[in-house]
Amino acid sequence: MVSAGSRDILHIDLDAFFASVEQLRDPSLKGKPVIVGGDPAGRGVVAAASYEARQYGVRAAMPTAQAKRLCPHAVFVRGSHGVYGEYSARFFDILDTYSPLVEPVSLDEGYMDLTGCDRLHRGPAERTAERIRQHIRDELGLIASIGMGTNKLIAKVASGQAKPDGFLHVPPGQERDFLAPLAVGCIPGIGPKGQKQLQRLGIRTVGQLCALSLKQLERHFGDWGVALYHRSRGRHDSPVHRSEEPAKSISRETTLQRDSLDRAFLSATLSHLTEKAGAQLRKENLFARGVTLKLRFRDFTTITRSCTFNAPTHNDHLLFESIGKLFTRAYRERVPVRLVGVALTHLTPHRMAQKDLFTDSNPERWDRLYKSIDRLRGRYGFNTILRAQSLRTAPRRRGNVLSRKISSKAS
Ligand SMILES: [Mg+2]
Repeated sequence: MVSAGSRDILHIDLDAFFASVEQLRDPSLKGKPVIVGGDPAGRGVVAAASYEARQYGVRAAMPTAQAKRLCPHAVFVRGSHGVYGEYSARFFDILDTYSPLVEPVSLDEGYMDLTGCDRLHRGPAERTAERIRQHIRDELGLIASIGMGTNKLIAKVASGQAKPDGFLHVPPGQERDFLAPLAVGCIPGIGPKGQKQLQRLGIRTVGQLCALSLKQLERHFGDWGVALYHRSRGRHDSPVHRSEEPAKSISRETTLQRDSLDRAFLSATLSHLTEKAGAQLRKENLFARGVTLKLRFRDFTTITRSCTFNAPTHNDHLLFESIGKLFTRAYRERVPVRLVGVALTHLTPHRMAQKDLFTDSNPERWDRLYKSIDRLRGRYGFNTILRAQSLRTAPRRRGNVLSRKISSKAS
């Protein structure tokens, strides 16, 4: 019997996500060892490895050169992060259809609370979990492993044990027995350093850890010891948090050196601010579905104007198109402007709020363009490359003063 108040928590984790997406995009890579990240000759690290490459000992975060030694015939690919973001969005779209309580952890893993959803899905949670795996396979062509238990800790460890391509359910009451034979490193929060500390006490398995009293653990490790005591028994009470918008908005504004009536100059400044905000948006892997324009006049009256779009975007030219329209409508050349600002709003990690495939026939092309812009700026400075609109009045912008005065708010 399931005890009262027991929960059904799933941890859903895509197997070898980046590498699997690369194999989907290029079927000739199917069945081959694929390593995503860095140039094998360079100093990068492995971002992801296909299961075929893992058989040779290749792991994420390993120096690429070492991976090359372990698996010389591996196919190295640079990685296509815009595409991963799209697959991730579709992955979470699928999860969202099974429960209102989905908590993304990273691009390819998340928790879901299915408690009380039995009737909704006409069957026990185990069957729903298998249905989710099938759904992901049919719709995305990707393999997910799922762990299920009474809390997030158990679900997470179970999905790790279920890999690859598996499902593992730890029934209520069996948490401790399930964990006992496993190595302590399987418990989130016990990294390589913690494992070494425990090894010095002769502890390798979770079961051995359970043999220590709360007092002993606290004496050895303080607060961490107390956490270990509970975790080793499979106790964990953090709920599944509903996915929330990660940031309310990303805004950039600047007080002009001199109040201005110059429409072209104000527009160029807004374009520059939009580029700044857009760069931050992409850095945070987000998309905006709205923009807000802010104008403060010499008399300190302030107006804001907002609009939203159908599909979220992180492309500067689309963001500025809306800012520019708002500005054209709002600005009357009577009172000098003292401050201008832009805010990107309705932020989301998902590109497609609606499956609107017609707004931009080739979003990847733009992704590639903005990625290379961001890379150049990372290397040579933000103003290395600017939109023509941002440059139009460059001589009057008084050099770098503007960019230094730009403040970052709420980002
Ligand atoms: Mg994964």
